[in-house]
Amino acid sequence: MANPIRKPVVALVGRPNVGKSALFNRLAGRTISIVHDQPGVTRDRVSAPCSLTAVPCDLVDTGGIGSLDNIDFSEAVSTEAQIAMDTAEVILFIVDAREGLTPVDQAIAQQLRKAAAHVCLVLNKADHEELDHVAGDFAPLGLGGGLPVSAAHGRNFKALLTELDERLQPFAESSREAEEAARVTGLKIAVIGKPNAGKSSLLNRLVGEERAIVSPIAGTTRDAVDTKLTYEDIPLTLIDTAGIRRRGKIDPGVERYSVVRAHKAIERADVALLMIDAEAGITAQDLHIAGYILDAWKSVVVLVNKWDAIEKDTYTMNYYTERILYELNFMPYVPLVFISAKTGQRVDKVLPTALEVQEARLQRIPTAQLNRVLREALDAHPAPSQAGKQLKIYYATQVRSDPPTFLIYVNDPKLMHFTYRRFLENRIRKAFPFPGTPIRTVLKGKKETKKKK
Ligand code: GDP
Ligand code: GDP
Repeated sequence: MANPIRKPVVALVGRPNVGKSALFNRLAGRTISIVHDQPGVTRDRVSAPCSLTAVPCDLVDTGGIGSLDNIDFSEAVSTEAQIAMDTAEVILFIVDAREGLTPVDQAIAQQLRKAAAHVCLVLNKADHEELDHVAGDFAPLGLGGGLPVSAAHGRNFKALLTELDERLQPFAESSREAEEAARVTGLKIAVIGKPNAGKSSLLNRLVGEERAIVSPIAGTTRDAVDTKLTYEDIPLTLIDTAGIRRRGKIDPGVERYSVVRAHKAIERADVALLMIDAEAGITAQDLHIAGYILDAWKSVVVLVNKWDAIEKDTYTMNYYTERILYELNFMPYVPLVFISAKTGQRVDKVLPTALEVQEARLQRIPTAQLNRVLREALDAHPAPSQAGKQLKIYYATQVRSDPPTFLIYVNDPKLMHFTYRRFLENRIRKAFPFPGTPIRTVLKGKKETKKKK
């Protein structure tokens, strides 16, 4: 399988509590750092893009060697180091300048010396110059002098970036290609909703002219029309089903007709804006359409319209959110935007949200990060056995985006219960949120793999 084009990966490796999270957050350019005082706290976030380096890269926190207490320590050392070695172009091996050299550092170093990737020794917690002399203590690791830094105070952070810039330079081209591949270059958005939800009104707002005919009288007939516009230099096509109304007098047939048209619009779209009338609440037809969006593997944003007409207090939005997500429990990842097409309230959030969802659709997860999440999931909840047979999960890789699709290698797909599959999907989603976007898992058995060869 060809490697997808990707940004270079910088992995942070080191025993717990040396300051990996602190450094990770700083490199990711996060202002609020979430740093745990407790060693070995599991984090949900395992990767983040870093754009502080001259060549944009992806940061990976391999999780803290020795942080999993249910597995053998030396095994943990080797797996974590191995993940870093398997995927990273650059490894930041972080040690604690205050504590000095420990046996665990030595064990990790022994492993890392075999790495093809460049290993950069980082002496963290060197908050003051007086601590710089400890560099000599780490010489036995055989990884060079090491760079004293302070993740907490930012000391020598520039020097670290310079070091990274130098190491990442050879990957400049693939980094650029990867960024281009992930850029949203055009987007088809379907505006879906039952008659009178406010689709034409929204369209008018978005397009900024009276393109669609807004009429309070149900029954106006028009065909679906595509509207082209540019938003932040990105060409967009709005597939508009606003004109799709109850035709004539026989309601049932016409309702069906509009659903069929909605289906067609969804099929052509990347992202569907499902518009709900807040006054009417979510209806059976809305749920039916939502189900169809999911079946077609399309992404979705729910627009709760006519928010101006709702009597509100501080809890109203929460209440609506809970209720709508309860109804849409088969797509808990859906973002909600509360708007008023009439007054224009939050209409400016609609297109940015659609673009964010599309970015998630195009996202690529590096294999090592994916497998780390998978392994943590397996550690937390081993697969139950079925009829005395044990499901074995070997490895996963993202084989495509749009929508994100993950191939999971197992011993026998029949042993995977759908609830366990759902659990794994949820774990993947917890680490890599994919807002508004369905994700797909495909199982591949050992036999199938063999047969092919
Ligand atoms: P991790 O387990 O390796 O991810 O370590 P954390 O980033 O969670 O940090 C562990 C502890 O070290 C926290 O109490 C941090 O506040 C502290 N720490 C992290 N970086 C520095 C630093 O540069 N100087 C000092 N003095 N403490 C730090
Ligand atoms: P469509 O059938 O989905 O295209 O809905 P329209 O845009 O034609 O709107 C149907 C009716 O709802 C019209 O009378 C609109 O004025 C009204 N409407 C649309 N958006 C809003 C809104 O945000 N607030 C309120 N109060 N009324 C709205």
